Amino acid sequence: MASIASTYHVNEWLKSEHGPTVISGPCSAETEEQVLSTAKLLAEIPQVKIFRAGVWKPRTRPGMFEGVGEVGLKWLNRVQNETGLKVAVEVAYPAHIDLALKYNIDILWIGARTVVNPFSLQELANALKGVDVPVMIKNPVNPDINLWIGAIERIMNAGIERIAAVHRGFYFFDKSPYRNAPMWEIPIELKRLFPKIPVICDPSHICGERELLLGVAQKALDLEMEGLMLESHCDPDHALTDPQQQVTPAELKILLSKLILREEKGNREFESKLEELRSEVDKIDAELMHILSRRMELVDELGYYKRDNNITILQLKRWSNIVRDRLKTGLNSGLEKEFLQKLLEIVHNESIRRQTEIYKSKKNN
Ligand code: PEP
Ligand code: MN
Repeated sequence: MASIASTYHVNEWLKSEHGPTVISGPCSAETEEQVLSTAKLLAEIPQVKIFRAGVWKPRTRPGMFEGVGEVGLKWLNRVQNETGLKVAVEVAYPAHIDLALKYNIDILWIGARTVVNPFSLQELANALKGVDVPVMIKNPVNPDINLWIGAIERIMNAGIERIAAVHRGFYFFDKSPYRNAPMWEIPIELKRLFPKIPVICDPSHICGERELLLGVAQKALDLEMEGLMLESHCDPDHALTDPQQQVTPAELKILLSKLILREEKGNREFESKLEELRSEVDKIDAELMHILSRRMELVDELGYYKRDNNITILQLKRWSNIVRDRLKTGLNSGLEKEFLQKLLEIVHNESIRRQTEIYKSKKNN
């Protein structure tokens, strides 16, 4: 599978003397003034080498701000000329690539919603044939490493040599503190399979809110990621897209100053295993919560049914059967008897408590 990767030799294009390369800029280019004033402030931060701004925005629902389009590329040309920063935009169609190249945009990136679609990726790859431009490929929205790898391979096959993978987190059905669950084991595995491809972490789209950015950015560095993409806006609260996760350039500077660059490199295999196991535990805990909540819903349904038919809540025979049966299953699965007894008691008490509430409530039909 990684055959094209084994011949790939360019991994230095993102190298910076100031530690990890920082890519920053607003989620979206909104006005010329906003783009220029943000870029000028960012250009004063030594770690920031690349200015990002979306001019075509993938929005979940129609009718929202969908980007300023071509005119934004002219503003990015001003950023290049007036700050010396390199500029990057998201492309989703071959026509976007043509326009970006026409305006000499330095770096292209392919967004998470596009990477899920191999047809789109192939069209983009075809449009990139014979072109020498760096391309950053975000992870797909869903946690499927093969889709990510496939997208990278299509771009490599088009002859693009300067490539980076961007880790922006994954859709996860359960609530978590993050907008997109980081699932660190996936970018770690990508690094293992494609050691020459730099991986940039995008804490902004992982976190979805400012307070979490520092922790995620630090973790990315601790996992030896080569760069960070952090959204920054001169007036984040009034940003037209992703306002909660953007920071001002001044806040970005503080955040970057707090990051610790560790000299001592960890053992990647060890880290990788640890992340994989933790992530499994997280998933199982989420399932456990869902299962418990589903159980309580059924208990409630039973409660209403028993109440409406004038049956007592506690039916001892049923309960002793449950305990006997569950203990047997649990013991067979290698769980301790004492633990099982405590667990069953807690679950039972909560069930009784819920049904008691139901009995107290009035019958409404
Ligand atoms: C973005 O970078 O603004 C963006 C749309 O990100 P993603 O593709 O990761 O959702
Ligand atoms: Mn964004």
